[in-house]
Formats: sequence, C-alpha cells, structure tokens
Amino acid sequence: MLRCRLLGHRYRFFSVGNSLEWRCARGCGAEGSKKYASAQDADRYARAFDLEDRADLGRRAPLVGLFPLRLWRALRSRRQQS
Ligand SMILES: [Zn+2]
Repeated sequence: MLRCRLLGHRYRFFSVGNSLEWRCARGCGAEGSKKYASAQDADRYARAFDLEDRADLGRRAPLVGLFPLRLWRALRSRRQQS
C-alpha cells in the first residue's frame, strides 16, 4: 500500500492471551506478534504501544494540514513569475 511506504505502517496493538499482536490498520497485511510471560504483561504492552502510536500520529497531523497551503503558495508564486 502506497501510504504505508510513504508514512510507515499504521499499527494497532492488542493482546491475545499472553501474546502481544499488532497489525496494520490499513489492511496491507503487515503484522507480527511477541510472547510475554503473562497475559497482564501482554495487555500492558499492547496499551502502551497503542497509545504511543496514536500520540505519534498527533504530532504528524499538523504537518499534513499545512501541506495544501504550501502547495497553493507555490502555485501562486509560479504564476506571478511567468
Ligand atoms: Zn501497512
């Protein structure tokens, strides 16, 4: 999936028994898992990683929002030159 190549996978983390599992939310097929000593550990890591991933998306969002404005300015300045 092109978005995954450009922005990285959008992983969702969840626990199944004592294993932590993750899968790309865009459905590109990227996934993985890791076993922990207990179900509590797996659950704790799943929550922590899921939260971290969401916080990371929040930091990237403002840059995405600025993009159309920058594009519009670039087009406008090009038009003024010609
Ligand atoms: Zn992906």
